[in-house]
Amino acid sequence: MKKAVCYVVPVLLCLLVGVVAGSLQTESLSEWYPTLTKAPLSPPAIVFPIAWTLLYICMGLSLGRVLIDGDKRFVTLWFLQLAVNFLWSIFFFYLRSPLAGLVDIVVLDLLVVLYVWGVRRQTPSAAWLFVPYLAWILFATYLNAYIYIKNPIEKEISVVLTMEDPMSSTKNQQTMTHTMPQLPYAMEALSPKMSRETLEYHYGKHLQTYIDNLNRLIVGTPYAAMPLDEIVCKADGAIFNNAAQTWNHTFFFDTLTPAQQAVPEKLAAALTKEFGSVEAFKEAFTQAAAGLFGSGWVWLAESPEGRLSIVAESNAGNPMTRGLKPLLAIDVWEHAYYIDCRNRRAEFIKNWWDLVDWRKVADRL
Ligand code: MN
Repeated sequence: MKKAVCYVVPVLLCLLVGVVAGSLQTESLSEWYPTLTKAPLSPPAIVFPIAWTLLYICMGLSLGRVLIDGDKRFVTLWFLQLAVNFLWSIFFFYLRSPLAGLVDIVVLDLLVVLYVWGVRRQTPSAAWLFVPYLAWILFATYLNAYIYIKNPIEKEISVVLTMEDPMSSTKNQQTMTHTMPQLPYAMEALSPKMSRETLEYHYGKHLQTYIDNLNRLIVGTPYAAMPLDEIVCKADGAIFNNAAQTWNHTFFFDTLTPAQQAVPEKLAAALTKEFGSVEAFKEAFTQAAAGLFGSGWVWLAESPEGRLSIVAESNAGNPMTRGLKPLLAIDVWEHAYYIDCRNRRAEFIKNWWDLVDWRKVADRL
C-alpha cells in the first residue's frame, strides 16, 4: 500500500506539472510558435503531449523506485530537475524567449545526467526509467537551439525599431513598420452580430500579433522595405503567413459596417451574370465558407478579364497570389467566431452577411 503511494503521488505530481505547463503554452502555441522557423527534424505538434505524458509517468515511477529502495539524497535532485523542467515552459512559451529556454534546458540536461548517474548504482531501474526522458530533452535541446539560432531575437529588433528616427525612415525606407489599421466603426458598433469582445480579441489581439510578428520577421530581409501586398505575393513561410494574415484581416475588418446596405446595382448585375442571382451567389459563398475544412478564408475575387469567382483558401491564403483581385472575404478561422458563436460557424456566417459593406465591395470591382 505504502509502495503504491510512493509511485502514484510522484506520477500525479508530474502529470499536474504537465497540465499547468500545457495551459501556459496554449496562447503561444496558436499564435507565436507556428510563426517560428523550426528544425528540420521537428515532430508534428501532436507528438509532444503524448511523449510528455509517457515521460512524466516514467519520471514519477523513477522517483517511486528511489523512495522505496534508493539513496534519498537524489530525491532533492529529482524535484530540482522537475522545477527546471517546468521553468522551461515559462521561459520558452510564456515569455517567448528561446534564449532563456535554451539556457534552462541545458541546465536540465545536466541535472538529469547527474540524477541518472547518481541513482544507477543503488536503483538501476530508477536510472533506466529516466533514459527516454534524457534522450528526449537532449533532442529538445537541439530543437530549442535551432529555433534560437534561426529566429531573430525580440530584444535586438525592439532596439532597431526604437533607434529608428521617424523622419529618416520615410527618407531612406530601410525598414517599413506595419501598423494596425483603424476600424471604420466603433468597437461596439457591430454588436450583437459581432460583439465588442470579439473585436477586442480578433482585431485587438490576433491581428496585433500578426503585425508584431511581421515587423519582427522582416528585419534584415528583402521584405523590410516592401509594401504589404508585395510581401504577400512574394514571400513564403512565416513571413507570408503573417503578411497575408495582416492583409486579410485589414481587408476583412474594413469591409464590415453597422449600417445594413442593399447590394449596389453594378455589383448585383455582375453577381447575377456569374452566379444567376445575388441570392444564388450568397448561397454558394455560404456553402464554401461553411464547407472549408479547418482554418482559412473564402473570397469573392475578380480575374483580370473581369470574371468573378468564389475562392476558398486554407490558412492565410489570398487570391492575389494567383493574380486575382479580392473583392470580399470572410475569415472562417475559429478565432473569428468562438466568443460569439462558440463552435457554430454557420451562425457566424449568417451574422456576417448582415455586416458586409456592399458599397466597398462594389467600389473594388
Ligand atoms: Mn482572423
